[in-house]
Amino acid sequence: MNSTQASGGHKRRDIEIFNPADGRHVGSVHDQSPDAVAATARALRDAQPEWEALGANGRARWLFELQAWLLDNSTHIADVLQSETGKPRAEAELEVPAWVDLINYFGRNAGKFLSDERPRPHGPLAWTKKLSTTLRPYPLVGVITPWNFPLAMAGLDVPPALMAGAAVLLKPSEVTPLSAAEIARGWSEIGAPKVFAVATGRGETGAAVVDAVDYVQFTGSTKTGQIVARQCIDKLTPYSLELGGKDPAIVLADADIDRAARGIAWGAMFNAGQVCVSIERVYVEAPVYDQFVTTLTRRVSELRQGQDDRNFRHDVGPMATMDQRDLVTRHVSEAIAAGARVTTGGKPSGVGTFYEPTVLVDVDHSMSCIQEETFGPTIPVIKVADEDEAIRLANDSRFGLSASVWTGNRARGRRVARRLDVGAVNINDAIANLFSFALPMGGWKQSGIGSRCGGAAGVRKYCRQTAITEPRLSMMIDEPMWFPYTKIRLRLVFGAMRAVGARGLRRIGITQEKNR
Ligand code: ADP
Repeated sequence: MNSTQASGGHKRRDIEIFNPADGRHVGSVHDQSPDAVAATARALRDAQPEWEALGANGRARWLFELQAWLLDNSTHIADVLQSETGKPRAEAELEVPAWVDLINYFGRNAGKFLSDERPRPHGPLAWTKKLSTTLRPYPLVGVITPWNFPLAMAGLDVPPALMAGAAVLLKPSEVTPLSAAEIARGWSEIGAPKVFAVATGRGETGAAVVDAVDYVQFTGSTKTGQIVARQCIDKLTPYSLELGGKDPAIVLADADIDRAARGIAWGAMFNAGQVCVSIERVYVEAPVYDQFVTTLTRRVSELRQGQDDRNFRHDVGPMATMDQRDLVTRHVSEAIAAGARVTTGGKPSGVGTFYEPTVLVDVDHSMSCIQEETFGPTIPVIKVADEDEAIRLANDSRFGLSASVWTGNRARGRRVARRLDVGAVNINDAIANLFSFALPMGGWKQSGIGSRCGGAAGVRKYCRQTAITEPRLSMMIDEPMWFPYTKIRLRLVFGAMRAVGARGLRRIGITQEKNR
């Protein structure tokens, strides 16, 4: 690849990509200029009408071709993904199967999700009209993704947007753009219509994408999400945002403590804690607190951390960047300085960006490890008196992405789930909602706006709706509200509306109206 790219009269340096586990240089991508993004967007727009005209079945055929290509190239793609993230092999290999599953779900179901609806008229007088609604895609959807799951994050958005009939411009994170570029290669190698492209670059490129598209799906930090939202509002471009999280886990005294500890260890350490819905704080009912902390500490201290080759030898990988490692270091050291205690881990491992899997106890709610998103392999644990205190503290957060509740009593689990101010709750499991593509995935409060993906809404969000009325009978006479207004006709019309809509004697015109 060239080390520079001509754009707007000046040269832009390529973005160099490094493996955070060992600092190795693994590739480079163009830092695309706003002009380059605008040109790509124009080409995508030109190709979109034909794509829309293919219909859901025609579009699904191309997505299933891509699915086959992904499977035929999955070892290489996992290699690329592992090289730019340093993830354990197990986690690097997960992302192609995630795309396979997502393509299968949206490819099979989008046609049904997109079909016209024929709502019943709202009342007897409205029966003069036949009603229907129809969905048409936004011509061009921009998808902006972060670095934690370079492929899977895009997988939640790109297949449903393509199935909706939109063209898609994907802007991956500048930290991990190489695997997204593989998807673009696949789309081109299968010879699909040119309705999908990847724009590599930094924030400026992302802003150019926001400028160029008709709908923005953004996943990333709350801070950048706010900038994107402001830009969208200026142009009245619709958007949905999936932002930060600080997901609580509640362990009730009747829980299976061993399962809770194993599940929470995974829910907090999966992808080294760099998951929007990872568990970032745990509230444990007093009677089982000591047993839980002991079991959790044992489980976490057994985790194998390090850099994998193609074998599945490690459980926990590095932080994606040095900045991220430094953030985790700050949260743990501030907690310790304020009186918290580490039961395992508690420091950078000294290699690359690795941070040791860490359990913190004697934590209070004012600490940064509870107030701010950590996005790292730390589990702060807090003892609570009872279920009510756990719920109160779990809800005491500016974030509201997801939560988990651990209990031996399912009815109690469901009851607690309905009291948590979050977009999703997993009972006796963690992160399960992220893998349940039939469910909407959206955050409350500062965790997002709209829902990210999932179910019919995951496809329909990329469409605009047209409401259509047509006369039920082919009447040649005028409609009742048309000109000229006459007292007799309109009194009849309003009387009929009142007779149908009002209650009691007011239906027949008997009112207590003063000043007649
Ligand atoms: P993180 O801190 O997780 O890297 P960010 O929210 O900064 O997350 O980035 C998420 C994505 O948003 C990345 O692809 C990044 O390049 C992109 N991005 C950063 N700044 C902007 C911006 N101003 N407009 C649009 N996209 C942006």
